[in-house]
Amino acid sequence: MTFDVDLFVIGGGSGGVRAARIAAGEHGARVALAEEYRMGGTCVIRGCVPKKLMVYASSYLGAFEEARAYGWNVQTPTFDWMTFRHRLDAELDRLEAAYRSGLAGAGVRVHDCRATLEDAHTVRLATGETVRAKHILLATGGRPFVPDLPGAEHVLTSNDIFKLDALPKTVLVVGGGFIACEFASILNGLGVKVTQFYRGTQILRGFDHEARDRVADQIIASGVSLKCGTDVSAMTKTPQGIRVISTDGAETNYEAVVYATGRVPNTQAMGLEKVGLAPGPRGEICVDGWSQTAVPSIYAVGDVTDRINLTPVAIREGHAFADTIFGARPRKVDHDLVASAVFTHPFELGTIGLTEEDARAAGPIEVYATSFKPMRAAFAGNGQKVMMKLIVCAETRRVLGCHIVAPEAGEMIQLAAIAIKMGATKEDFDRTCAVHPTMAEELVTLRKPVRVA
Ligand code: NDP
Repeated sequence: MTFDVDLFVIGGGSGGVRAARIAAGEHGARVALAEEYRMGGTCVIRGCVPKKLMVYASSYLGAFEEARAYGWNVQTPTFDWMTFRHRLDAELDRLEAAYRSGLAGAGVRVHDCRATLEDAHTVRLATGETVRAKHILLATGGRPFVPDLPGAEHVLTSNDIFKLDALPKTVLVVGGGFIACEFASILNGLGVKVTQFYRGTQILRGFDHEARDRVADQIIASGVSLKCGTDVSAMTKTPQGIRVISTDGAETNYEAVVYATGRVPNTQAMGLEKVGLAPGPRGEICVDGWSQTAVPSIYAVGDVTDRINLTPVAIREGHAFADTIFGARPRKVDHDLVASAVFTHPFELGTIGLTEEDARAAGPIEVYATSFKPMRAAFAGNGQKVMMKLIVCAETRRVLGCHIVAPEAGEMIQLAAIAIKMGATKEDFDRTCAVHPTMAEELVTLRKPVRVA
């Protein structure tokens, strides 16, 4: 059988681009890639990158206030959304161009259009052209999910925030996960009056309970009106914005409503039925440890597989796929002990490994934890306390989990993750001399367990 290419990648996000570049640039495969929107995918165009830049933008208000306590004479600063947005647009253009030149440099042929499956070895482009490929990689990512309820057509999602022409004065954020907490925090920091609804009892379900409480406390302390146990019943458009009827019976008008109620894999109208692939219960492409689907020539990586929906994981999956198929270096991605961070502010949540609850269910543990006002904020009169917590296996002494709620917790957890991934014990942490004065030094000076369970 002759093929036009060795690999056809559908989707130009983190996983697809990495796979294409490694397959073509390092392993000499003939590779084509189709992307229907902008190169870079969710992370670069409407996710991690613009979100983090908004986190930085929104952190200045607190920094200006803190600066006064340190003796700076700061005039009341104002924020100009369009100045930021123009610079953000330019930065995303730059990054997209870098992605394109990386692909071109590796020799990948890019098709700027939608592509769907025609059969196990054929991809149909929106132009009508078909391409025969020895292997096909599905890397189409995910999209925001908005529940079907009256008025849902009026809401914004995280995709829309970066393209607003003006910041609304009042916003309702719905959801209690990564995206809801981050955007509630960001918009609040940019001066928007934010209300956040979460249907459950505490935000960030699945994270360590103390960390969740601490993040909730600081979200509230920073000015967000967080309402747990509350959801939207219906919405109607009004001249002033959106009138929201909530499950507690209240009716409130918000200039905008942002839904952050999860994401679903992009598998609709992809031609899966033509190759006999049935998506999983959440619409995901089901794959094995090699990212291979039930059709041997078709693989899938990243959010479309709904494994761990994080950029670095998608990149690893794409890289491992390319090394396995084209580089004669077969390897599976290790999905165990993946650290992550929720970029709320002033305190982020950095986390790796088991929560206290999960560890407790698995066997005897010791919990080491501390909570304190960091020097910098304490000097400025900020009363918020950071939290550091280690979950230790009572038998092996291995650190099973680490949870940090603090400024720059994302940076800290990345380094703690190396030790924990290596199997460090509590005693290994203790043997490590502190860097003083820092917040992170507390991780190596936790002397007595606060709980044994
Ligand atoms: P999450 O799955 O993290 O959170 C979804 C939230 O919406 C939960 O609080 C959930 O409540 C709630 N929810 C779900 N369905 C409904 C509904 N029908 N009505 C009301 N509330 C609902 O999704 P996100 O959208 O926040 O993020 C998606 C993924 O993207 C994350 O899981 C993560 O993998 C990735 N991401 C990572 C980031 C990072 O690394 N910093 C940042 C942003 C996203 P409940 O808890 O009750 O189910």
